[in-house]
Amino acid sequence: MRLSQFHLHTSKETPADAEVISHKLMLKAGMIRKLAAGLYTWSPLGLRVLRKVERVVREEMDAAGAIELLMPAVQPRELWEETGRWEKFGGQLLKIQDRKEAWYCFGPTHEEVITDFARNELSSYKQLPVTWYQIQTKFRDEIRPRFGVMRAREFLMKDAYSFHLSDEDLDRQYRVMYDAYGRIFTRLGLGFRAVFADTGAIGGSASHEFHVLADSGEDAIAFCEGSNYAANVELAEALAPGERPAATEAMRTVDTPTQKTCEDVAALMGVDLARTVKSIALMGQHEPGAPQFVLALVRGDHAVNEIKLSKVPGLADYRLATETEIAGHLGSQPGFLGPVNPKRPIRVVADRSVAAMGDFVIGANVPGQHLAGVNWGRDLPEPDVVADIRNVVAGDASPDGGGTLGIARGIEVGHVFQLGRKYAEAMKCTVLDETGKAAVPAMGCYGIGVSRIVAAAIEQNHDDAGIRWPSAMAPWQAVVCVINPKNDPAVTEAAEALYRDLNAAGVETALDDRGLRPGAMFADIELIGIPHRVVVSGRGLEAGTFEYRRRDAAESENLDRTALFGRID
Ligand code: ATP
Ligand code: MG
Ligand code: MG
Ligand code: MG
Repeated sequence: MRLSQFHLHTSKETPADAEVISHKLMLKAGMIRKLAAGLYTWSPLGLRVLRKVERVVREEMDAAGAIELLMPAVQPRELWEETGRWEKFGGQLLKIQDRKEAWYCFGPTHEEVITDFARNELSSYKQLPVTWYQIQTKFRDEIRPRFGVMRAREFLMKDAYSFHLSDEDLDRQYRVMYDAYGRIFTRLGLGFRAVFADTGAIGGSASHEFHVLADSGEDAIAFCEGSNYAANVELAEALAPGERPAATEAMRTVDTPTQKTCEDVAALMGVDLARTVKSIALMGQHEPGAPQFVLALVRGDHAVNEIKLSKVPGLADYRLATETEIAGHLGSQPGFLGPVNPKRPIRVVADRSVAAMGDFVIGANVPGQHLAGVNWGRDLPEPDVVADIRNVVAGDASPDGGGTLGIARGIEVGHVFQLGRKYAEAMKCTVLDETGKAAVPAMGCYGIGVSRIVAAAIEQNHDDAGIRWPSAMAPWQAVVCVINPKNDPAVTEAAEALYRDLNAAGVETALDDRGLRPGAMFADIELIGIPHRVVVSGRGLEAGTFEYRRRDAAESENLDRTALFGRID
């Protein structure tokens, strides 16, 4: 690719509305442009990177025995009625009408569509097991789209679905996909961790999330260095009940009932727990000066309309919340909140210094099901605040007895679930088993946030000059920069030859023939993160060398052609 014929549009300005580094750098590098909240155009440069991620994902899915197909983005309401999710999915489901006023949604996920496909395509156990996947655009009407493509409304997902006659076979394929995920994130050059996760609105029995570790991550994950235990804090018990003097000191509990049972809280609030309440959630407040957290009881199937927190001593104010809203704040989906166990203690901790920085709350419960999530909200805590939180967690035993818990920030880039028979049952999907009896297949589903990975990779790989792509994701492996292309035909010729030869040797190379001043040209190439840069200049040609610099090296070196090829390979 000749950059003079490409569309590179970088900018020196740091975009004011971008909060995290990946969003800033993607805008500065001209990889994405915002159309509306949570909707982005991928520029030619951005698309090159996105396609690299897709390629790795596709190759590993194929290697794991999954078969690619492509399903529609727009899905009829009737399918979603069959599973009850037309109502249950909540506000993230974008509902649309056609000219006949029939209802559709723009798919946030594809369990219904794939199960419909399966019930039509599959008739015999002989066709099982089968795993289908697609790489396709999803839409979720996120409450707070933010961080660019990291939490977008329209985004690219790889979603795979598997069908099995037995639970054991589902287990087996779950493992295969789990391992494939490990290979994908390793090949992409990402530092990641697989953690136990909540099965959320999707439902099911076993689930793991894959997190790219980064301080800007919206999820807190608890893990144990002494064992293999790792869990999303949504599920892990981030803060075990019980007094811990050091932690208490660090946390400065704010006007809060700290050790109440659900029953206590319900009594304080004047609600009948047994009859009306499904879940309890804790959420942060954004408004400056507002109390540090809100506690809400979720009634019935969906909405909570009025929880008067003013009735709870110590809570000066109250606000109204819906389950969707709470789930959105907790970075999850409606329906993920666990059922209420009246006897379960709730510990509520809000650190004034953290709360002052944005929406923040820690809620914790006793072992087993969670009631509350941890959300660091928009304004990320200062490192010392994070350290305080670490103090709280460090020193607690892990749930598996293997050592002490640590906590880190993570960006969820992948999620695998064992769905069991929930969808197949609801949608009457059956196959004939060996004995000729109709059997409901067990299902697994496996998602990867393809577009989110691009941002997550930048969170882990950048410096002051810009992006430092892991090799597998770089838009090009190398760029040949031409100094003075117009004035010196020999330089142009040598650069063209090098550009041709590198590509012929299998190194995906661009030629920077835009005629920019060296400073501006190098700044661009560093900003967009190309791993290898080669400069062809008159002076170098005289000496028989090229100026070579790796993106992560402090200095450039003058190398002859053979040494250069050796270095770039
Ligand atoms: P999150 O907790 O971040 O909201 P999720 O658990 O709702 O994600 P899943 O239903 O597990 O998401 O979807 C599979 C993958 O799709 C996620 O692991 C994530 O990488 C990606 N993803 C989900 N929501 C978004 C989004 N709004 N923008 C970009 N990628 C997303
Ligand atoms: Mg999640
Ligand atoms: Mg979500
Ligand atoms: Mg998930």
